[in-house]
Amino acid sequence: MTATPRLEISHIAKSFGGQKVVDDVSLSVMPGQVTCLLGPSGCGKSTTLRMIAGVESPDAGQIHVDGQLICGDGRDVPPESRSIGLMFQDFALFPHLSVAQNVAFGLKLDRRAARARVEELLGKVGMGRHIDRFPHELSGGEQQRVALARALAPRPKVMLMDEPFSGLDDRLRDDIRDETLDVLKAEGTAVLLVTHEPGEAMRMADEIALMRDGRIVQRGAPYNIYNTPVDRKAAAFFSDIN
Ligand code: ADP
Ligand code: MG
Repeated sequence: MTATPRLEISHIAKSFGGQKVVDDVSLSVMPGQVTCLLGPSGCGKSTTLRMIAGVESPDAGQIHVDGQLICGDGRDVPPESRSIGLMFQDFALFPHLSVAQNVAFGLKLDRRAARARVEELLGKVGMGRHIDRFPHELSGGEQQRVALARALAPRPKVMLMDEPFSGLDDRLRDDIRDETLDVLKAEGTAVLLVTHEPGEAMRMADEIALMRDGRIVQRGAPYNIYNTPVDRKAAAFFSDIN
């Protein structure tokens, strides 16, 4: 018996003004796994994520979560009902809400259960002591940790992350990447992580989907892709790994 992917995208496509920016993209993420959508700027990564999140409609294809059709064949489940969490670089915290209020925002739990979930998650991301602070009182890395807790609070089945670490300075970035992975793995969330940095994909992914000009050109385990690039362009892309 093969397990059902947590997230499965089949043959999705999107054009803007006659230009195909996502062209027949298929990929999947298993529970507790990280799939990296890796490719240069402008290749269609964010558009792909926006279609999965439900804020952009695909022209073709299907999207399934846990085997349930959420988009395609005339079906279009609204974003808030897709059980998908989002973490984007510019996905800011609400400035007028405390850390606790930010994490509790949108939780459909009674006050005590919400508080327990907020404390549990802030503990996991190492922010338990800052529960009553406000976003402007936190460093960039601390804000990122709170954003992670907020995205995980409603227990999404899938987490979509679009270059979530690119605003952080180098020293902090490695730590936050590792901590984020630990928390996501402990929660069992399936992660689709978008990045243009091969080093980040190598570090974080269980599987890499290499994208170019709107298409997936290669899929596989990080070291297979690194050691056996599909063509010269892929080899060159991996050669300036940092
Ligand atoms: P990436 O995230 O890989 O950098 P994007 O998905 O953001 O790439 O963009 C892919 C291409 O689609 C780019 O050429 C971009 O300019 C174009 N694009 C994205 N969104 C829109 C839009 N709403 N209208 C027109 N063109 C768009
Ligand atoms: Mg992008």
